[in-house]
Amino acid sequence: MTYRYTFDVVKWNASKTVKCPSCKKTLRRSKTFEQTINPFNENAAGVPKSRTEILMELKDSAAVWTAKQEYCQACLAPVPEPEDE
Ligand SMILES: [Zn+2]
Repeated sequence: MTYRYTFDVVKWNASKTVKCPSCKKTLRRSKTFEQTINPFNENAAGVPKSRTEILMELKDSAAVWTAKQEYCQACLAPVPEPEDE
């Protein structure tokens, strides 16, 4: 016998416009943060998280992400360093 559970997913969409610290190019990024509401997704007190709790956590994660510096693809590409052997 198979039990199927469908858990509610709480999502939070974040987007930001940042400047690449290296070349000053403007970058637009977006990210979706999500968690499911389920009996195993507990808070520090061991109680399953409520939708409100999850939403607060997602907003916290989004704030951390928003504050993070982002480099553009060109600056992220590995630059081969000259080696002298
Ligand atoms: Zn760059």
